[in-house]
Amino acid sequence: MLEDTEENRYVEYLQKQLVTEGSEDFLEEQSKWLRENRHTLFANKIGNHSVDTSLMRFMEWTVQDLSTQGPYQDVFGKRIFEPLLEKLLKLAEEHKIAPKLPIYFSTSPAVDASPAAVPSSERHLLFAGQGTYSFCNYWGKIYTLSLQQLAGVCRRKHTAKYVLPKLVRRGVIGSATSLAWRYATRGSVLGIGKLAIPDKLSDARMLMVTAMEVFILGHEIGHFLLQEDFPDTNGTPPDWSEKDVELHCDVVGLALCTSFGKQEGNPFAYQFIGPLLFFSAMEVCQRVSRLIGTRQFEESSTHPSHAERIQNIFDFVKTIKGRPRIRPVLRDCLRLSKALEFGVLANIVHIASCSR
Ligand SMILES: [Zn+2]
Repeated sequence: MLEDTEENRYVEYLQKQLVTEGSEDFLEEQSKWLRENRHTLFANKIGNHSVDTSLMRFMEWTVQDLSTQGPYQDVFGKRIFEPLLEKLLKLAEEHKIAPKLPIYFSTSPAVDASPAAVPSSERHLLFAGQGTYSFCNYWGKIYTLSLQQLAGVCRRKHTAKYVLPKLVRRGVIGSATSLAWRYATRGSVLGIGKLAIPDKLSDARMLMVTAMEVFILGHEIGHFLLQEDFPDTNGTPPDWSEKDVELHCDVVGLALCTSFGKQEGNPFAYQFIGPLLFFSAMEVCQRVSRLIGTRQFEESSTHPSHAERIQNIFDFVKTIKGRPRIRPVLRDCLRLSKALEFGVLANIVHIASCSR
């Protein structure tokens, strides 16, 4: 439990607002399990596997630190997002776009993919957690596996006709269908179980997941910046729609993401592949949701569509120096993600027709 201070009570209050409806039992179970097992978690679950020492240190540190996370503990949230946020804020400072007020990170109990930004006049709070990192992690695996199918293939063959059978054979369409179905029906991919990928892809997967996460955090930094400039209108400049605000925050996220990628040697961040595939994943989930008639994704007239947000990425690329190299790569990724989307939708239609 956190120390009983006014500040912490406020954080806990906000955390409670973020709990996704219907996930209370799951969160309580998880919290209880962690409390009971945190001392043996490291020794029994991790210590027996042959993992590298940095991962072991990471786990040890994480398990010892659970008590500082409030009632909604999870093993990785704080450890994943806090260091990334720190790096992004340093980059923002270098580019002279850093928020003036400090940003505190807190674990979010939400199980859907969105983090939450809570700006204020003294300091900002950013909530993210397992909903976000599990989404990025699973879809990061799907897209890393998918991109592997393009390796060494000449660009003329980057068509759905050529790529789709490879994705089906490799089991990618099957796994992506399960993920999209889960998200469309439950609003989260948590608890879906193991999705194995070859060891040789784990570094690439890590880079992909980080690229998505960095963009997501950068977007929230965009909201804090707008809030500081336009405090009286909750961070909305005059004559801007909510859509304009979201697209602008995406641009802040993209600028920080590419700068992070350059600094860290992460091509998926530098070339905007992480953000593009994050929106592609959201789009697949939304399309499946519409197809099977669940209501996880209501069409929003105020928010930009995923297609608009992807177009926003291409528009942003036009304004930067590296565009001649980045644009064709992004187009390939978009074509690949569209092939995957087609495969998933065909799969769902097939499953539905068989179950009739
Ligand atoms: Zn936003």
